[in-house]
Amino acid sequence: MSRNLIFFAPVLVVLFSCHSRKQADLIVHDGLVYTVDSSFSTAEAFAVKDGKILAVGKDKDILDAYSAGQMVDAGGRPVYPGFIDAHAHFVGYGQSLFAVDLFGSASFEEVVRRVQQFAAYHPGLDWITGRGWDQNKFPGKAFPDNARLNELFPHIPVVLERVDGHASIANARALELAGVRPGQVLMGGLIETKSGRLTGILIDNAQRLVWQKVPPLSPAEYAERLEAAEQHCFAQGLTTVTDCGLDRRDIEGIDSLQKTGKLRMRLYVMLSDRPENLDHYLPRGPYKTDRLFVKGVKAYADGALGSRGACLLQPYNDRPGWYGFLLSAPSHYDSLARRLAGTDFQLCTHAIGDSANRMILTIYNKYLGGRNDKRWRIEHAQIINENDFSLFGKASVIPSVQPTHATSDMYWAEERVGAQRLKGGYALKRLLQQNGWIPLGTDFPVEDISPFKTFLAAVFRVDAKGWPAGGFQPENALSREEAIRGMTIWAARADCLEKEAGSLEAGKKADFIILDKDLMKAAQGDVLQTKVLSTWSGGVKVYSVKG
Ligand SMILES: [Zn+2]
Repeated sequence: MSRNLIFFAPVLVVLFSCHSRKQADLIVHDGLVYTVDSSFSTAEAFAVKDGKILAVGKDKDILDAYSAGQMVDAGGRPVYPGFIDAHAHFVGYGQSLFAVDLFGSASFEEVVRRVQQFAAYHPGLDWITGRGWDQNKFPGKAFPDNARLNELFPHIPVVLERVDGHASIANARALELAGVRPGQVLMGGLIETKSGRLTGILIDNAQRLVWQKVPPLSPAEYAERLEAAEQHCFAQGLTTVTDCGLDRRDIEGIDSLQKTGKLRMRLYVMLSDRPENLDHYLPRGPYKTDRLFVKGVKAYADGALGSRGACLLQPYNDRPGWYGFLLSAPSHYDSLARRLAGTDFQLCTHAIGDSANRMILTIYNKYLGGRNDKRWRIEHAQIINENDFSLFGKASVIPSVQPTHATSDMYWAEERVGAQRLKGGYALKRLLQQNGWIPLGTDFPVEDISPFKTFLAAVFRVDAKGWPAGGFQPENALSREEAIRGMTIWAARADCLEKEAGSLEAGKKADFIILDKDLMKAAQGDVLQTKVLSTWSGGVKVYSVKG
């Protein structure tokens, strides 16, 4: 026995040194790898097997220890974890790609023109839907009315959603099909009626009356929309998207598309606050697969500032006596919080106005009772009263914010709330200080999908044209590192996915991107010029730049 061992020992050593490199599927090397680990360390290389990262380190160490069939030379370029959008509407975005694109319209005449063009290109439509108009960009900034749409489309129903999703304009045919009557009243919504006639403007809950009449998509149409959305996301370096509010039907559709390999985007999903969703999912607990995590419940406390639906503690500066409104009675949010407190679901409530935020923070504090790890979230947390910031920290409530909302609203937000209240608005830095971390998102398709715009707005607080010089309320800017964390590991944490995504560390999913410029160093003017060269999900290339 011992003699045999001595005899074979030299042979074993030779075999060992030849075959000592462990087999991986993929090695990325010669990169400037931002791991976004707890110390924000950088590395040069990493090895991937079965979709997960085996090890991260220096080129020499990784190349000595591993061999792989696929080698990616990053050419010294920056490698980041795939971006995670902590607040978006993936399904809604897919649908918006197949509806009239009204974003950036400079007048209602332009809106009407775009609808006419769309109708001409798509003859035989049963319904025309569109999204993205914003009366703040129109001369006079008043809500439009539907007179022109009624003239041009007497027989086809038309419904066009405002940029923030909190108001729509419908033509007379759509209103008739939905049975909307002049002067009709409903909870949490407004049906605009002037001189006894419907103007077509529907705010918040009133929109549903018309939108629910739009015929559902076929499975093939549905898949087409989500695949289109995914392509756009991958091209922007997004590997995980948080969808804030879906029904069971959407979730089951996504699950089956993912399971058949047609959809590779990872999604964290919040359930829309509807009895049929809650009754189905709450008793079963969060639903998780490799690409899907149904873990949140999305409630809406109020509307948006642009359509004056955000609920304020004091009246709007530009409409005397008007406070905005809550979308449900406070008792609704209280009973929802009580119900969810006994589950593993996160409560995620849309709150924009300082009154809505105070109400939700108070209810959260009541049921969470101090520091905790339930990760309940407030979506937007846009206007916060001076006295209420600490309510986030007290109950570990996550402020889930969208930096581009600040740079989209900065042109008119002061008209709505005045300079004093605006100091507590879009206050990223103060909100970050509450828990020491903050997730960032875009709210696409309400805002542009681009994570680079998120970074620009978070760090420089300027719009795409670099306005205003020095930034809007620059005291609330984030550092570059904070912004990158907000778009990766902190977004993962807000989605309870930080053990598997959001950083490039051993054991985590190999979701990463290679960029042509380094966000940690790029000049302000270069941020939006940054290109995603390739996007990888689970170690598989899902996008690469052409040319
Ligand atoms: Zn949203």
